[in-house]
Amino acid sequence: MSFKNITVAGSGVLGYQIAFQSAFHGFHVTVYDINEEVLAKAKAKFDQLSASYATDLKASVAQLKHTFDRLKYNSNLEEAVADADLVIEAVPENPAIKTSFYEQLSKVAPAKTIFATNSSTLLPSQFAQVTGRPSQFLALHFANTIWINNTAEIMGHAGTDKKVFDEVVAFAKEIGMVALPLHKEQPGYILNSLLVPLLNAATDLLINDVAEVQTIDKTWMIATGAPFGPFGILDIVGINTAYNINAMQAAATKNPSKIKTVEYLKTNFIDKNKLGVATGEGFYKYPNPAYKEDGFLK
Ligand code: NAD
Repeated sequence: MSFKNITVAGSGVLGYQIAFQSAFHGFHVTVYDINEEVLAKAKAKFDQLSASYATDLKASVAQLKHTFDRLKYNSNLEEAVADADLVIEAVPENPAIKTSFYEQLSKVAPAKTIFATNSSTLLPSQFAQVTGRPSQFLALHFANTIWINNTAEIMGHAGTDKKVFDEVVAFAKEIGMVALPLHKEQPGYILNSLLVPLLNAATDLLINDVAEVQTIDKTWMIATGAPFGPFGILDIVGINTAYNINAMQAAATKNPSKIKTVEYLKTNFIDKNKLGVATGEGFYKYPNPAYKEDGFLK
């Protein structure tokens, strides 16, 4: 194995999954977060997560015990990274918080340590200098529910060392991910570069009254063989996320069509708490959405 000791910084939605997945695959993992109280919450979430590993991956009791044995917790950054080969940063998606985190990290991490950000929307070049070791810094981007949706997009900035990049690709494979290397920086990586335009196009068709939700989804599902149409996907991602992305784009571009989309999503979904699968209703009703019914594709 290329690395032995991993530190995961931030134990929120993604961080605790990355920590558990890495420990499950044999790495010694230190979970770092801002205080003991947050770390105690992470420990409790690991218990729930281990139940999912037992169900979804048929993980044995012994495998899960070894996973817990390999997990440590520390709210002191210097101690948490003292012997780290790799730090995976999963702190909030906020440039100021990430910058301040890397400033502190660069002062206390050993020279050997590689830093990887799990940021979904911020590019590694934005933080490369503040890490103090640009050649040992890159993005390693996971998807939510990483033990099932096991993509790992690996994206360096122009100054990332090729050897470091290859080591992180190897690590991603070692923790059970399908490693997806990118040759250069790309906002949205591969997945969101494909997905966001599809979802935007679907909402445009709806808002411009070209066709109905189910007609649009059926078209996509029948013609491409995909198990979900764009509106089925939007319900899974969460309509609040789609709303936030569109609101940012509307604010930045002042594009009238974007503004119309934002208003539409707010009035019809956000204000009514119809956020998709999470709240039981979005474009479809759950747990039995129409697109899963026999005959939907006829
Ligand atoms: P989150 O808000 O759930 O968790 C963030 C964690 O970081 C919290 O536990 C918080 O206490 C901790 N934190 C805050 N400041 C910190 C600091 N200075 N040092 C260490 N820890 C600190 O966020 P999340 O959804 O897990 O997202 C984390 C990163 O992962 C973001 O960059 C996000 O873009 C990315 N990501 C999220 C998803 C997703 O579906 N949520 C998917 C892929 C990538």
